[in-house]
Amino acid sequence: MKRVFNFAAGPAVLPEEVLREAGEEMLDYKDTGMSVMEMSHRSKAFEQIIQDAEKDLRDLMNIPDNYRVLFLQGGGSQQFAMIPMNLMKNKVADYIKTGQWAKKAIAEGKIYGKVNVIASSEDKTFTYIPDLKNLKISEDADYVYICHNNTIYGTKYNELPETGDKILVADMSSDILSEPVDVTKYGLIFAGAQKNIGPAGVVVVIIREDLITDDVLPGTPTMLKYKTHADNDSLYNTPPAYGIYICGKVFKWVKKLGGLEAMKKRNEEKAAILYDYLDASKMFKGTVVKKDRSLMNVPFVTGSEELDAKFVKEAKAAGFENLKGHRTVGGMRASIYNAMPMDGVKALVEFMKKFEVENQ
Ligand SMILES: *Cc1c(COP(=O)(O)O)cnc(C)c1O
Repeated sequence: MKRVFNFAAGPAVLPEEVLREAGEEMLDYKDTGMSVMEMSHRSKAFEQIIQDAEKDLRDLMNIPDNYRVLFLQGGGSQQFAMIPMNLMKNKVADYIKTGQWAKKAIAEGKIYGKVNVIASSEDKTFTYIPDLKNLKISEDADYVYICHNNTIYGTKYNELPETGDKILVADMSSDILSEPVDVTKYGLIFAGAQKNIGPAGVVVVIIREDLITDDVLPGTPTMLKYKTHADNDSLYNTPPAYGIYICGKVFKWVKKLGGLEAMKKRNEEKAAILYDYLDASKMFKGTVVKKDRSLMNVPFVTGSEELDAKFVKEAKAAGFENLKGHRTVGGMRASIYNAMPMDGVKALVEFMKKFEVENQ
């Protein structure tokens, strides 16, 4: 058996330990005689799995008691609609446009109400986070929406916008669990699982209790009301049970590594290896303003499309998968989520150095 270093932006690498454990439990989960995939979501065994997953996530992120944790379906993208359907009481919201995922959320928000784009970095292909001082938050806005880490462009917020009494909503799909978060600053945080938590399809929603109401937009389907899922502890219908089980294992793995402070240190060290090389290299260059660089997604270019393509091809042959940049940016992107080992990043940089020498 041979595993590659998978630098995909998503679905992404998972901890090997988690995959091994799931493999061992595939046919017989803890003497139940069945796989978690075959098990009733109302069984004692699954109840324990989902309760442990919630508890471990609460411990990791220090989630206060007045927030609910929901395990839902539809990935990050389903939240682009659920958020306005549930939170747009005045039918107005402010969005900050920092990339493709924010754009998709904006487009979806417009279906349900008035969307004000109060800041954008589109003028420079989303290579920075807009200035957050002097933002004009709309008086009648129901919430202010940000995408906390921009997976495609490789930027992240190092500060948050001052939203006063307005609720801050954040898409943390590609950086949840990468560093500590002050949950109390947000009304709602969501994260599609496939980047840093587990299998695609699952989405984790952390929502302040007072925002869970029956006062949703007319026509909102039962399945798309937060209240439906909160009232039923995420078991209103059959949840993505196997996915939640893997998420739970990833939470335990992060805890074992020392929690989010330890992850942050590890991620900073990992990212520094790559960024330091990009800053020193004469061939490869990072594409993002330094102060806004993501710890998770690192886009870079050589300046020549031919050389980029050659690099991606040779890297793949050497066991470094999925380094091709997003079609809207070109070049390369190395996604180095929590589960990417330090050795993977070191090996990539060694490979880049060799490529640079060979292609001068
Ligand atoms: C991947 C991603 C999404 C969408 O996730 P899906 O699981 O494909 O719906 C949303 N937001 C961000 C920031 C992402 O990286």
